[in-house]
Amino acid sequence: MSTMLKKLFRRKKKIYPNRFLKHYYSNQKKVLKERKSKYDNKRKKGICVRCDRQAIKGIVLCEYHKKQRDKYNKKARNG
Ligand SMILES: [Zn+2]
Repeated sequence: MSTMLKKLFRRKKKIYPNRFLKHYYSNQKKVLKERKSKYDNKRKKGICVRCDRQAIKGIVLCEYHKKQRDKYNKKARNG
């Protein structure tokens, strides 16, 4: 981990207007990356991306969340 950080620092030195913005940007990047990798992992394993149940084949949602989504879509169409 520390070797990776050292490499990152050596490669590119970003300049931020202040340390608060620096903190914000570095964390935002980390959070987005983590969120995406979690989603990808679940999708690959066939687990619903909204909970930890088994997803239906071909989609990223389980039976329950598929129904929730369908209900929501129906409501949106019919008003
Ligand atoms: Zn689910």
